[in-house]
Amino acid sequence: MHVPARPRVPFEFHNKDDFPAKLAGWIGHVFYDLLPGHGYEIREEQIFTAFRLADAVCKGKVHFAEAGLGTGKTFAYLLTAIPYARLTGKPVVIACASTALQEQLAGPRGDARTLSRLLGLDLDVRLAKDPRQYICERRVERFAGPLSEGTDQALQDALRRSEASERGERSEMPDVPDRIWKMLAWDESMSCETCSSRGFCKLVRAREYYRRAGDLIVGDHGIFFDDLWTRDDRIADGKLPLLPPYSAVILDEGHKVMLPAAMRAGRQILKEDMESMLSLLEQLQGARMSLVSVTFAMRAAVARFFRLLYNSVCRDERTDRLAVRLSDVLLQAAETLRRALEALLRELQYEQELHIESLTTTQIQAFEARIERAAAALGRFCRNRATDTIVWVSRRDESFWVVPRDLGGLLKKHLFNRKIPVVFSSATLSAGGDFGYFARTLGLQEVSSSSVTSSFEFEKQVLVYLPRLVPAGDREDWFSRALKRLVSLLRLSRGRALVLTNYPSDVRKIRTGLKNYRFPFELLWEDRAERGYLVERFRKEVSSVLVGAGFWEGIDVPGEALSLLVIWRLPFPPPDPLIEARRREAEEQGLDPVTAVDYPEMALRLKQGCGRLIRKRDDRGVIAILEPLRGMPWEHVALEALPPGAGIAASLAPLSRFLNQKTSGAGGGGLPPATGPAER
Ligand code: SF4
Repeated sequence: MHVPARPRVPFEFHNKDDFPAKLAGWIGHVFYDLLPGHGYEIREEQIFTAFRLADAVCKGKVHFAEAGLGTGKTFAYLLTAIPYARLTGKPVVIACASTALQEQLAGPRGDARTLSRLLGLDLDVRLAKDPRQYICERRVERFAGPLSEGTDQALQDALRRSEASERGERSEMPDVPDRIWKMLAWDESMSCETCSSRGFCKLVRAREYYRRAGDLIVGDHGIFFDDLWTRDDRIADGKLPLLPPYSAVILDEGHKVMLPAAMRAGRQILKEDMESMLSLLEQLQGARMSLVSVTFAMRAAVARFFRLLYNSVCRDERTDRLAVRLSDVLLQAAETLRRALEALLRELQYEQELHIESLTTTQIQAFEARIERAAAALGRFCRNRATDTIVWVSRRDESFWVVPRDLGGLLKKHLFNRKIPVVFSSATLSAGGDFGYFARTLGLQEVSSSSVTSSFEFEKQVLVYLPRLVPAGDREDWFSRALKRLVSLLRLSRGRALVLTNYPSDVRKIRTGLKNYRFPFELLWEDRAERGYLVERFRKEVSSVLVGAGFWEGIDVPGEALSLLVIWRLPFPPPDPLIEARRREAEEQGLDPVTAVDYPEMALRLKQGCGRLIRKRDDRGVIAILEPLRGMPWEHVALEALPPGAGIAASLAPLSRFLNQKTSGAGGGGLPPATGPAER
């Protein structure tokens, strides 16, 4: 068999001991000599980050690499990741926050391939996508043979396209509706280990392909945690883990890991899923009496549990994860449902032994996997009155989530104790340079860290406006004053503004408040159209204004179109169960949950929001915070989250000068002022 030659470390070194020094020397050579030779501008912040990160990786540390926008942190971590993978003979895993970002990083024009081309590295980088992004051929086979006349047209199209697709990936058929995709894609109920197509299907081939990566495996947070939480069990069961052995991990957008970590460690129970399983069982011809009665009992248990659960939900518009009020009656209903699930599981196992052909083996196995997971989650929920779990109801699909509370303990056991280098990279990991909050959420006491702000000149590019308004507690008065101030600001900037609210309902209230004003620019409202469409319009229609609660991160609008960022209210965290668990942990550690959790959470989100304004070196703009900040207990924390060095104004006059400097010659001027009630 041909064994491919191991790719070479791109510099000479004698042994492991002199590798760190040689790596640092090579990084310096790349930044100071090679990249400028290719027309790249080097940045001190980027070089500092690269050196600190290289040092931490070589020492096997957990490292927080905070680097502001425009510092080029991707090159900084790639320059260590590639030689380190070659030194150890095991790939480095880079986990991104989304499929789009992983494609961007490892795609033909992404940073990884660009660096490889520039430095002649002959990089072997492979994408590891979430298995839910692939069709499961066993599922597709269910529809084999001529389709009946009434078959859904969308399903017929999707089947044809999945057949013709090269890799069986969702990205090859992005317009297949979610509901159809769920019928064809892999999910946890499909057990690949017992499948006759194992080794031949497109998903398994994709997995085998990325497993052989020489240098880098680029996945997303989801697949990384899926692997992490199941890795030891899979190895113990003689199965291959999802990811091959790796030498280090870099968690890009590291501030976002806790939610996917929690969700992949937890279990989701969907009422709709259970009901469709029961409907199928109820339609079985000639089913045994015991199966009929167990199915009947389970339907009653499902109905009762979900009715009580939905009645126990604490609704809050700011979060998709709705907290649940625990009660004895709810816990009893959960226990009854758990027992009903176990009874059904026994019946299905019996059914399989009897070789009754009314259900296929695939169906039975899929049911069994679902039932086992749901019963385990309910068991965990009922144990110790749910003190070991975090639970919520998803606003999107009304599913019930049960997640282990001690995520820090799990991370320690499965990741940090392995003593491999782990890098969290992001523009927002610290609150005012203090990484304590993020470290605590990960259950870490000590970490190595580096922090550089962006290479932008904020003192020239940003002016912060902090008006003196009445405290936000006096809501009526504050709202009308803030609204008038917003009108003044929009007039000054002639639109070109992003207004960030903390409550979705504020979007509607602001719209109502502005209804008597006429503006010579378009106002785009978050609740009136799809997010991607709105952002695209906001980008293209330079004078437009975008208002929403969901744009604090993930939107990139460089240039004139975003000249004014209005923070309508400070983004204090909602009563989200994950945050609530952190508050409780802080209390248990003797800390004040408000200052130990709420303030740093708010500061991190505010920092992300402010990061929307300056995306390029020639961007300029104003950040206006309408919620009172001066003299408040959180003043210092909030000020630390603002772009460092930015000037602060308390009146509108300097803003006018600042914004007009921006518009001169930039094509954004010439719009008539807004008309409407006079500002007092
Ligand atoms: S191996 Fe897994 S993904 Fe492939 S067809 Fe079988 S169950 Fe589906």
